[in-house]
Amino acid sequence: MPTYAPGVALVEGSGTTVWDAEGKEYLDFVSGIAVVNIGHCHPKMVHAIQDQVETLVHVSNLFYNEKQPLLARALSERSGLPGAKCFFCNSGAEANEGLIKLARLWGSEHGKYEIVTMRQSFHGRTLATLTATGQEKVQKGFGPLPDGFVYATFNDLESIEDAITSKTAAVLVEALQGEGGVIPAEPEFLSGLRKLCDEKGILLLCDEVQCGMGRTGKWFGFQNYDVVPDAFSLAKGLGNGFPIGAVVAGQKLSDIFQPGHHATTFGGTPLACSAALAVIDVIEEEELLANTMVMSAYFIEGLCEIAMKHKKWISGVRGLGLLLGLVLDVPAAPLQKKLLEKGMLSLATAGNVLRLLPPLNVSQKEVDQALRLLGEACLELHEESAALSPNPCQCGMGQ
Ligand code: PLP
Repeated sequence: MPTYAPGVALVEGSGTTVWDAEGKEYLDFVSGIAVVNIGHCHPKMVHAIQDQVETLVHVSNLFYNEKQPLLARALSERSGLPGAKCFFCNSGAEANEGLIKLARLWGSEHGKYEIVTMRQSFHGRTLATLTATGQEKVQKGFGPLPDGFVYATFNDLESIEDAITSKTAAVLVEALQGEGGVIPAEPEFLSGLRKLCDEKGILLLCDEVQCGMGRTGKWFGFQNYDVVPDAFSLAKGLGNGFPIGAVVAGQKLSDIFQPGHHATTFGGTPLACSAALAVIDVIEEEELLANTMVMSAYFIEGLCEIAMKHKKWISGVRGLGLLLGLVLDVPAAPLQKKLLEKGMLSLATAGNVLRLLPPLNVSQKEVDQALRLLGEACLELHEESAALSPNPCQCGMGQ
């Protein structure tokens, strides 16, 4: 179905490089939308999948498999949530559905079912998660939407306080809004939110689908803020492209789901868990959290120089770790297109933000290459728009 409009057919990948069907090479600063965090076809992951596929692929959750508890323990230990347990599923939307169901079941005894979510958030495309997503364009045409979602403003504690009622079960938030335009939470906002949820006796849930698994330089985005949620969702980078999602819940919620409450046929297969365990090993062995922070600082410096050079139409750089956005005063799509022509993949987000998501093992040489291509593309766009509309600028690309 024409749900996407892809322009290029990619056929091969290695590390930060991908090739299209014509053999053209691209520097991949999209990473499959924050998925391929350890790069394309990392040998350790390839071997883990190959070994597992020859041993045991799927048994259903009616039986234990060896790999699932290992992955649950690995995530639980890194989460900082005391006594955390996991439910495994297949995607980000499904993980958020799990979080929503968990919060509702927890609140059901006291008539609490409402979930406060943020405007400009993104939580998925199933009916409940598109309703949780505070963006009209995602919801339009799919009504009637499920009841029980209330919207507040990101980075505005007062607005959240106003949205909380006696029926509120939880607040669901991203530590950094990715699809919403690469907007990090302000430190006082997340710590204040934790405090507010405790005072009101409600749950704090984090959607870590995009910023989890090292993307922000910590295992999980909320760890940048020293805040511990009651539960969080994962997907994307967890399997580096092998589909797997997870709900990770701390003590308060870890035994709410009992047999019969929630299920999924494919969740946590030995194959998916082997892929995710290999991802965790690689992130640790290759010290990719540290590399993320070093490359992030280096990349931000270079991006700021470009932004300064074009300050008439680039207003700044924002983000955490290697989830960065170049914020333009004009639509980002022309810049993204120009970069694609030059052999670099990037994403236009929220209209005017160029989202940049290299793998976490990106090298300084590759960041230099990205900065060079970006510098060239900005200069060319600037010159083209000046030639098109000398004064005043009508095409929106500066003067
Ligand atoms: N939550 C966040 C923060 C996301 O960025 C996304 C996808 O972009 C999702 C949830 C949905 O994940 P999926 O596409 O795997 O269902």
